[in-house]
Amino acid sequence: MRYSAFSIIRNALSGNRNWKPAWRQPDPKPHYDVIIVGGGGHGLATAYYLAKEFGVRNIAVLEKGYLGSGNVGRNTTIVRSNYMLPGNEPFYEFSMKLWEGLEQDLNYNAMLSQRGIINLFHNDGQRDAYIRRGNAMWMEGVPAELLDRAALKKMLPYLNFDHARFPIIGGLLQKRGGTARHDAVAWGFGRAADKHGVDLIQNCEVTGIRRENGVVTGVETTRGFIGCAKLGLAAAGNTSRVGQMAGLKLPIESHVLQAFVTEGLKPAIDHVITYGAGHFYISQSDKGGLVFGAEIDGYNSYAQRGNLATVEHVMGEG
Ligand SMILES: Cc1cc2nc3c(=O)[nH]c(=O)nc-3n(C[C@H](O)[C@H](O)[C@H](O)COP(=O)(O)OP(=O)(O)OC[C@H]3O[C@@H](n4cnc5c(N)ncnc54)[C@H](O)[C@@H]3O)c2cc1C
Repeated sequence: MRYSAFSIIRNALSGNRNWKPAWRQPDPKPHYDVIIVGGGGHGLATAYYLAKEFGVRNIAVLEKGYLGSGNVGRNTTIVRSNYMLPGNEPFYEFSMKLWEGLEQDLNYNAMLSQRGIINLFHNDGQRDAYIRRGNAMWMEGVPAELLDRAALKKMLPYLNFDHARFPIIGGLLQKRGGTARHDAVAWGFGRAADKHGVDLIQNCEVTGIRRENGVVTGVETTRGFIGCAKLGLAAAGNTSRVGQMAGLKLPIESHVLQAFVTEGLKPAIDHVITYGAGHFYISQSDKGGLVFGAEIDGYNSYAQRGNLATVEHVMGEG
C-alpha cells in the first residue's frame, strides 16, 4: 500500500480497518543469496539498496530483537555533513543528499527537519579550528557559515552570553543539517526493503557461523540453521562478537554512548546546538522533548542502558 493523502482519506472512510502491516512476518527460508545480520539502519539500508539498485532478490535481514531495537532507535537523531577530513566530508555529504530525497524514495515520513546545526566556540583557538572546518566543507562544495557573537545573539537569544564560565564567542552553522526521526529510519527502510521482497526476520539471533573450507555456508540461529551464499554483518557494537563466530578478530571496541530526552515541553529550541567547552549538545524533538547528547562510558561494554551519573554530568555541562 502506497502512503499518500488519498490513502489516509480512503482508510478514514472505511474506519481505518484496512491498513496493511508495514512489512510481512515471513518464516526463514532454508537458503538465501544474501543474509544480513542486524536489523538496524545499516542492515536494512544495505538490504534495500542491494534489492533496489543491484536487483538482488533473495535477501534476509536477521534481527535478534525487533527492527530498530539497536542504536538506530535510540540516538540523538542528528543528520549533518559538517566534517573536516577529506574522506569524511564527501561521505557524509553523500548521505545528506540521500536524506534530501529519501522520504520520497521510501514513501515514508522520517520527519527530516533541516533546522540547522550550530557548533558554538568559546575561545580563539576553537574559532580558528571552526574556520578551518568551514573552509574544508566549502572545498567539498558544502555550505557553512561562521556566525559572530552578534549574529548568534539574534539567532539564539536564550543562551547565556555574558556570565558563563566559557563565554560564547561565535558558532559554525550548517543550515542543511538537522534531525530525522530515528526509528522511522528503520521502519522506512524496512518497509521499502520488504516491498522489494527482502525477508525481515525478527526475534532471530545469529548464534554461530557455519563454514566449509573457509567459506561461509550459513548461520546458526535461534530459529534454526539458515544457509546463504553471502553474509553481511551490520550488528554495530556486536559486530566483533558476531565476527568471532567466523574466527574473525575485528579491530573494534564497543562502549556505551549515552543520551537522554525529557518529557514534552513547549517549543523553545529551533536548532541543534553543540557546546564547545564540554560534551553537551541539545535539540528539541517534534514531540517537544529536549534531547541531550552525552559521552561514551570509559570502559568497554555491550550494554544498552544509560545511568543517572551521566545524566547529572551532562546537565552540569549544559
Ligand atoms: C546515544 C546515541 C546517540 C547517537 N546519536 C547520533 C546522532 O545524533 N546522529 C547520528 O548520525 N548517529 C548517532 N548515533 C550513532 C547511530 O545511532 C549509529 O551509528 C547507527 O544507529 C548504527 O546503526 P546500525 O544499523 O549499524 O546499528 P544498530 O541500529 O545498533 O543495529 C544493529 C542491530 O544488530 C542486532 N544484532 C546484534 N547482534 C545480533 C545477532 N547476533 N543476531 C542478530 N541480530 C543482532 C541488534 O539487535 C541491532 O538491532 C548515536 C548513537 C547512540 C548510542
